[in-house]
This record gives sequence, structure tokens and C-alpha cells, in this order.
Amino acid sequence: MQDTTLTCGACSGSFVFTASEQAYYAERGFQFPKRCRSCRQARRRGRRRSQQSSISGSLPAMKPMAPRETYPASCVECGEDMKIPFRLQSPPRCPGCFCEEYSAG
Ligand SMILES: [Zn+2]
Ligand SMILES: [Zn+2]
Repeated sequence: MQDTTLTCGACSGSFVFTASEQAYYAERGFQFPKRCRSCRQARRRGRRRSQQSSISGSLPAMKPMAPRETYPASCVECGEDMKIPFRLQSPPRCPGCFCEEYSAG
């Protein structure tokens, strides 16, 4: 095996694909590189960045829930307006006051 000169598919510049590199690629069953060293490095850096940004975008879309019937109510403690999903027998409290009541014992 001997050194070969390949043409970069990205910048059209020629680069040397050395005999030892060829052996390395052949050993691992890789295809010959289509890009020069600097273009490969740039591509690798760009790919890593796009992988990170795509993590949050790959979440499955939530199914829209059927609207539940709600009733207007106001908190007996602080008077805050809210909507409750069912009719309460006891006077309603907003989540904040509800928790306070429990944490106070
Ligand atoms: Zn290149
Ligand atoms: Zn309240």
C-alpha cells in the first residue's frame, strides 16, 4: 500500500491519505474518507453541537386532553379566584392555602 491523494468533497481541496491511514481504515472496515482532515474536524464539532440541541426537541408530542368541566370558586382564606374540577362540599381553598393548612398541622 502507498500514500494516495484524495479530493475533499466539502472544500474540493486535495489531501494525502497515507498508507498507514489506509491500513487503519481497512482494518476497521471504514470507507475511505470523503473529506479532508480539517473538514472532518469541523463536521464532527458541528455534529456534537446539533446533537445536544436536538435532545429537548425529540420529546413526543403530548396528546391534547379533553377539556374538563370546571367550576369557578374563590379561596376562603385569601379570596383568590380559581377554577376547580368538581363541586366541593367544603369551602374551597387555593393550593397555597391548602398546603399551609396541612403544614401548620
Ligand atoms: Zn476539506
Ligand atoms: Zn388562598
